[in-house]
Amino acid sequence: LFNALADQAAVAIERIQLVADVDRAKLATEADRLRSALLTSISHDLKTPLAAIMGAGTTLRDYAPSLSDPDRAELLQTVVDESERLNRFIANLLDMTRIGSGAMAPKLVPSELGEIVGAALRRAAKITAGHRIELDLASGLPLLCVDPVLFEQVVFNLLDNAAKYAPQTSTITLKAHARAGEIVIEVIDEGPGIPADDLERVFDSFTRVEKTDQVEAGTGLGLSICRGFVEAMGGTILAGNRRDRSGAVFTITVPIREETELS
Ligand code: ADP
Repeated sequence: LFNALADQAAVAIERIQLVADVDRAKLATEADRLRSALLTSISHDLKTPLAAIMGAGTTLRDYAPSLSDPDRAELLQTVVDESERLNRFIANLLDMTRIGSGAMAPKLVPSELGEIVGAALRRAAKITAGHRIELDLASGLPLLCVDPVLFEQVVFNLLDNAAKYAPQTSTITLKAHARAGEIVIEVIDEGPGIPADDLERVFDSFTRVEKTDQVEAGTGLGLSICRGFVEAMGGTILAGNRRDRSGAVFTITVPIREETELS
């Protein structure tokens, strides 16, 4: 009997070992995939704006006196725009590192949604300039229990995407209402929407939907940062599509301030 049990135990251990190996292999593949996506993205997202800055800078240095004022202004604008793009990408990478290392400690304070949305809209004003913004925040919303800095970044990223993927002059709607213990916030656009198979995948780092690959300035990081931030604040974020017409809907839920947590 002892021998039989020992044999069974040996088989079980071998099985566990196999499962562990498969898990390790899966993890390694996932890590490899992320590493190579990171390298591809970094080399593209850093090199493209750098090349533009170097081109504009060199032209200005060598030919400034013979250039017309509008040409000089355009080259300078390229330097500013592309530096902004670099800055955005580096900020995204830093956000990712903070989430990944678990070093993010959200500072949850009672916050007014209207104020946070207002700040995000002001920051996104240039990006959304061609769009119509419709605000539909229910009156008398309770205070949110969020980190206002992180939450503004989430709303900004969603506005940025809506403006990027939906056609100019289309409407971007921001809606919010309260329900038991939480506030539900929706960012709705009139773009192509997101294929059903990709609704979860879009929250993975460096993932872009194939047909939107052509839109420039995408890093595939914005939504994974949104999910990392929202979950760190005890909320949820999901992607969906409109039923009445084409367009994406991003739904966030965040806890409202608990009176009992006030002390
Ligand atoms: P990025 O926009 O930098 O590519 P994100 O993580 O913000 O990265 O988004 C991931 C992908 O999800 C995008 O590349 C795009 O394919 C898709 N996506 C995000 N927002 C929208 C939207 N509002 N409408 C359609 N597709 C979207």
